Amino acid sequence: MSSNEFQTLGISAPVLKAVQNLGYEQPSPIQAQSIPILLGGKNLLGTAQTGTGKTAAFALPLLSNIDPQQKTPQILVLTPTRELAIQVAEAFQSYAKHIKGFNVLPIYGGADIGGQLRGLKRGAQVVVGTPGRMLDHLKRKSLNLSQVKSLVLDEADEMLRMGFIDDVEMILSKTPAESQRALFSATMPAAIKRVADKYLGDAQQVRIQSKTQTVERIKQQYITVKAHQKMDALTRVLEVEQFDGMIIFVRTKSSTVDIADRLQARGFSSAALNGDLSQAIRERTIGKLKRGQIDVVVATDVAARGLDVERISHVINFDIPYDNESYVHRIGRTGRAGREGNAILFITPKETRLLRSIEKTTKSTIAPLTMPSNAQVSDQRIQQFTEQLSKTLETPRLDKFREMIVKYVEENDLDMADVAAALTYENQKERPLFPKLDNIVAPRQDNSGKNRDRDRSRDRDGKNRDRKGKDNFSKDSNPRNPRAKSERIIRDEDGNVVPMLTYRLEVGKNDSVEPSNIVGAIANEADISSQYIGQIILHDEYSTVDLPDGMPDDVFKTLKKARVRSKALNISIDKGGDNTAPSNRSPRPKKGPKKVKTGDRDSAPKRKSVKSDGTAPLKKKKKTYTKKDKKKK
Ligand code: AMP
Repeated sequence: MSSNEFQTLGISAPVLKAVQNLGYEQPSPIQAQSIPILLGGKNLLGTAQTGTGKTAAFALPLLSNIDPQQKTPQILVLTPTRELAIQVAEAFQSYAKHIKGFNVLPIYGGADIGGQLRGLKRGAQVVVGTPGRMLDHLKRKSLNLSQVKSLVLDEADEMLRMGFIDDVEMILSKTPAESQRALFSATMPAAIKRVADKYLGDAQQVRIQSKTQTVERIKQQYITVKAHQKMDALTRVLEVEQFDGMIIFVRTKSSTVDIADRLQARGFSSAALNGDLSQAIRERTIGKLKRGQIDVVVATDVAARGLDVERISHVINFDIPYDNESYVHRIGRTGRAGREGNAILFITPKETRLLRSIEKTTKSTIAPLTMPSNAQVSDQRIQQFTEQLSKTLETPRLDKFREMIVKYVEENDLDMADVAAALTYENQKERPLFPKLDNIVAPRQDNSGKNRDRDRSRDRDGKNRDRKGKDNFSKDSNPRNPRAKSERIIRDEDGNVVPMLTYRLEVGKNDSVEPSNIVGAIANEADISSQYIGQIILHDEYSTVDLPDGMPDDVFKTLKKARVRSKALNISIDKGGDNTAPSNRSPRPKKGPKKVKTGDRDSAPKRKSVKSDGTAPLKKKKKTYTKKDKKKK
């Protein structure tokens, strides 16, 4: 079984080997559909969101067709954010692990251009980057697109929302007309369809169809958790849920073993079930689960196909399934033989879209489950302890122990309750009855893409791959502080006030600038999360934008050089009043300024958290505003 399915799809031997090493058991639906199309050199229009396996859906076939000897870019991937660029580049690197002489280069704004220039000079078969910086390289003639065989637009709707669509079109027009093109988007707004019609011609369409299916008798819940805290969250859920048998679904064969081992070490009788195990072993494991010799099975979709065990009271989707069909299939392993079943879905903030889509398919509401608290875990452990104690009290062989303790108590004139407490204390050291577990903070949900950057800062293992560098924004770090203070503030997630300062940008309506262009440039070039970009007012010749007070010098310098519509922002602190440039003073605008209030720009990144009064309940401990700052936490 296993990666044979990938082989059947026709991916090349070295790429297949990498997929096997990664423990992918079978192609996800988007991969099964896209791989043959892209391998065949055809254009593709895919409706797919994060979590469906879309990166591999284009990376595996395109890598299968590259020429490792040819060092000028053959595959170009455009992404809306630097985080996604890094993530996609890492994915390419891992899938190309066995291709000799392979290089992938991420290029994005806000990073040292020198390194990118050197990288391009050295040569890379794959370049992944954000549109602005790609255009920069095109203008410098450091990026040669003449040999591009395939171009991928990833998260096209996000690029549209961030105001990059013109840049994308410009890059598209510079790639060879005969090159293959693939566009992936979670949604297909008219502007994206127009680009597809213009540049993708007779593209084959791929989308994951989902029939509505009902899931009665199953109580469905979800829990939002950051990727790196999933294991702790799982242990905690297992501690407090009253379950009989349980299946935990994960994506890879290696995770089945890893998680089963970790659960075993934490005292849950568990075993792995995956396609690498022989039929005999799999049957033995299922038999044990049926007989109650083990309670938890950690499985992949393939291995759990058709599994029918009545005592399964719980299904946990530790990794979200690729599509809604398999969600329904997975949770159907519980609620057997007329019993009640429970399904708990773990989602990371960027997977919220998939949650909503599952709800639509199953025509049911999946209720949020709050992370079990220390007190809940404690109650549960105490209950188990006292139950065990009651059982032990019934054993007939206690006489000798009672005599010993009574003698000890009398000789030392002790209180029996004190002795019992001391024994209990000794007994619970391994598994404390009053645990102080690490605080797992449920991240806020991402309905709009708002949290995705933060989440993407963590790699697939949940490790923080942040680079050290910029100072946090703080009141004291900015010598230009605080003359042109904005009246407006936003609030971080703890409700702390984030003071804002109004800045002036030397681009305006006359340059055909839209607020979304400004948000896109600031977010990507200066790495400032869009939720911290406040009110933008467009005037004819310039604009103003509210940003957190205390901008570090290097961010300020980056923003001075950043360009929108080919014009440098040349940012300065807005002097207010006459609204004229520090140098090159321009007259007051004749037309009324176009005011865009935070949160209601339709094409700008949505910031649902921003309330009408301009305050945002953002979750921040310190006053840190750049995406990097956040990642450091
Ligand atoms: P994506 O939708 O591209 O962001 O991928 C989501 C996650 O699924 C990534 O962590 C991939 O490594 C993982 N993944 C993609 N394809 C497969 C597969 N066929 N089997 C197991 N995991 C996969």
